[in-house]
Amino acid sequence: MDQKFMQAYPVMKKIEDAGYEAFFVGGSVRDYILGKPIHDIDIATSATPDEIKRIFPKTVDVGIEHGTVLVIHEGEGYEITTYRAEGEYEDYRHPKKVEFIRSLEEDLKRRDFTINAIAMNKDGKVIDPFGGKRSLSEKKIKTVGNPDERFNEDALRMMRAIRFVSQLGFTIDHETFQSLKKNAHLLSYIAVERIRSEFEKLLLGNEATNALKLAIEGRLHEYLPGLKNLDAALLEFSNDPFSRLQGVEERWALLLYVLSVTQTNDFLRKWKLPVKKMKEIHLILEGVRKRENEILTRYSLFEQGLTRAQRIERLYCVLKNKELESSLDVLQKMWNGLSIHTIKELAVSGKDLMDWTKKKGGPWVKEELNFILDGVLEGQVENSLSDIKRWWENCKRM
Ligand code: ATP
Ligand code: MG
Repeated sequence: MDQKFMQAYPVMKKIEDAGYEAFFVGGSVRDYILGKPIHDIDIATSATPDEIKRIFPKTVDVGIEHGTVLVIHEGEGYEITTYRAEGEYEDYRHPKKVEFIRSLEEDLKRRDFTINAIAMNKDGKVIDPFGGKRSLSEKKIKTVGNPDERFNEDALRMMRAIRFVSQLGFTIDHETFQSLKKNAHLLSYIAVERIRSEFEKLLLGNEATNALKLAIEGRLHEYLPGLKNLDAALLEFSNDPFSRLQGVEERWALLLYVLSVTQTNDFLRKWKLPVKKMKEIHLILEGVRKRENEILTRYSLFEQGLTRAQRIERLYCVLKNKELESSLDVLQKMWNGLSIHTIKELAVSGKDLMDWTKKKGGPWVKEELNFILDGVLEGQVENSLSDIKRWWENCKRM
């Protein structure tokens, strides 16, 4: 069994020894059966949160209203959630109230897809009342129970369906997909943050292009901020571009590129992305558009820094169908060859310029520093105070 499950064994045993049930559930069981690496494990139990807290000395209330307690055992954290049934749903999203129950099967029944409704005990015994293993072998995403009902309860599940398409390379079961098409409009009731979280997982998956095409076919894209004009034709590349990129910022940048978005920030604000991410995506796109018109100079490489320059280069190569490895190699060599890598290393400062000229500061200082920086980077002058002074005065800039 996987190391992560083994580590959790004593935690499961403690719950059982106290007279309750404990099962691994959700993504970890699914990924384990698929033979994929598992990241975090979720545990479901018949014990109530208070009962769990009585069993373990160290716990944190992370989502007590949903029945989730974080148990700290030998330095590891385990999210343990009480079996629950979800009462009535309101407005196609969160249930009005959750009800703690003692039946595993009832808990599995409220889960979204059959592949996510499989439980496994500490000894590896699988409980699979909804045919999850069969769906795994058929590579199908299929709701637990009637898809219309399930998507009406929580419309986010339609986003989850396409994100699993991207992550797992599965297809959506026919009936489930028909229902998704019918209910796509319900996505407008869902908070954009929840949609974004699923959408970014989609972008990061290996089959993002296929998942996006399915989103278009199911008309889900009409309810995704700024994606109304996304057309399957825009995604026709000779090889799946998303999977050749790294990190979610590059993938957002690719999406904005194919959509010809010019107002990057307006677009990304609708998705409520953190400002830092928005800036990075903007700079990648700007860099790619610049890269299309001119060769990479030492000066722009210096300005971008190695990491961003690599992101820009990756996206550029993917879009132009250029060989990636050798381009990144060239970039790395160029970076290694730069005489300085940060502005702090430049031998002169604005203060030196003001001393030499006896002039007051102003925008000219930055302009001249940039001129000097370019000279140093291009090897026109050594990076030393006296050399730069002589060279710059010779240039007669002022
Ligand atoms: P990942 O590997 O990305 O964590 P996951 O399947 O574990 O995938 P989570 O979002 O962590 O996904 O959710 C854990 C489990 O909770 C799911 O496997 C599923 O059983 C259940 N679940 C999550 N979201 C929903 C939902 N909106 N409706 C019903 N069940 C859900
Ligand atoms: Mg999970």
